[in-house]
Amino acid sequence: MPGDLDDICAQIECPKCGRELSVPFRVIRLQKAVGCQCRAMIALQDDTPLAELQRLIDEQNSQAGANDD
Ligand SMILES: [Zn+2]
Repeated sequence: MPGDLDDICAQIECPKCGRELSVPFRVIRLQKAVGCQCRAMIALQDDTPLAELQRLIDEQNSQAGANDD
């Protein structure tokens, strides 16, 4: 279901304070940047978060497919 992708969060580390942020795919798509609690604005670059996101999507898909542990 394509709508589910918006709920997947990518873990992005703030380059300023080192805090790990959970950024929903919806935010990545719409904003291209995210604000940290330390007020740093983190640009969501194409390679890192989206590559990571694809991995998370694959993970979630495989989990959804194998639901009978
Ligand atoms: Zn920060």
